[in-house]
Amino acid sequence: MNKTTEMIRLTEQYGANNYNPLPVVLTKGERVWVEDLEGNRYIDMLSAYSAVNQGHRHPKIIQALKEQADRLTLTSRAFHNDQLGPWYEKVAKLTGKDMVLPMNTGAEAVETAVKAARRWAYDVKGVEKDKAEIIVCENNFHGRTMTAVSMSSSEEYRRGFGPMLPGIKVIPYGDINALKKAITKNTAAFIFEPIQGEAGVRIPPQGFLQEAYDVCKENDVLYIADEIQSGLGRSGKLFACDWENVVPDMYILGKALGGGVFPISCVAANRDILGVFNPGSHGSTFGGNPLACAVSIAAMDVIIEEKLTERSLELGSYFIQKLREIRHPDIKEVRGRGLFIGVELHTSARPYCEKLKQEGLLCKETHDTVIRFAPPLIITKEELDWAIERVKKVFAQS
Ligand code: PLP
Repeated sequence: MNKTTEMIRLTEQYGANNYNPLPVVLTKGERVWVEDLEGNRYIDMLSAYSAVNQGHRHPKIIQALKEQADRLTLTSRAFHNDQLGPWYEKVAKLTGKDMVLPMNTGAEAVETAVKAARRWAYDVKGVEKDKAEIIVCENNFHGRTMTAVSMSSSEEYRRGFGPMLPGIKVIPYGDINALKKAITKNTAAFIFEPIQGEAGVRIPPQGFLQEAYDVCKENDVLYIADEIQSGLGRSGKLFACDWENVVPDMYILGKALGGGVFPISCVAANRDILGVFNPGSHGSTFGGNPLACAVSIAAMDVIIEEKLTERSLELGSYFIQKLREIRHPDIKEVRGRGLFIGVELHTSARPYCEKLKQEGLLCKETHDTVIRFAPPLIITKEELDWAIERVKKVFAQS
């Protein structure tokens, strides 16, 4: 049995069967490239669902990790540490918000947003006890915790996990009239992805983000953007809400906030909202740990210093244009913003992902029929050209 087969066997024998990965075992990564156990090299077109926007093992981020690992890794929040304050300041300045609350994973940050919104509804808006409602969108993806699956409209994500969290209403994505109808005096927040990632890179109708903001403001409802995947440069703007120049009441961030090196997530909002938390009301042992903060400071610096947002916009337009030039009856639509691109097929995307793998491109299908192209934002035009030749070849042979 070769090493690849052995590693897959171990994973399948001892691991819970909650993923369906492509049969490739990666062992090294650098910039946009990853290498498997047999020495094959691939361009990573998924970037760990946009957590590796800065590229694999960015030297500046790895240096921050190593230096901090040699000094102090975890204090819990029972004590202060010397990385958390500067990290808070950096996120606050990046988002333009007064306050930040750190967690570890995206789903935990979503939990935090829901808790903040509910407490805000009771303490500030004056909603009657236990009556607060949250509005979410069909086909959303906010993670896998019970709150996130309670918000999900996917039967597959919910089956066998009930009872679900009450107080959640689901509206069709991008439907402003449905939003208006769903709002009641008890509505605490509208939580949405400004571009739906897991749904297959779905962009709302032009004007929706702004109109939804106005509707929320008219009704004293918090407008909360889950930018865990779409934020931090991925869509060609720092935040996908910037496409309509909307500033949400709260940003939910994760993934690339840790530069693909260490998990860190957060919510950022002004004091009138995040001020609802007091000692004892929320927290996490690892939330705000100095190792994550040091890594995250470097990760944010890289996004700004290397102009990753601008790169994403420019190279994304180029790549979308090249993808649109491919004529093939299986292609239904090519859509995207920046390097956040979905190619929707009339057929299953999995066989295409398998063929692209043979050609040196690692992509993962999403929602069965969509191939997502979301490489690290540090990718060069030459590397994109290399990629597009392989994509063309796979379609030409299919
Ligand atoms: N929210 C969005 C928009 C996401 O894309 C994801 C992950 O894909 C999450 C939340 C959950 O993040 P995590 O997997 O870190 O819990």
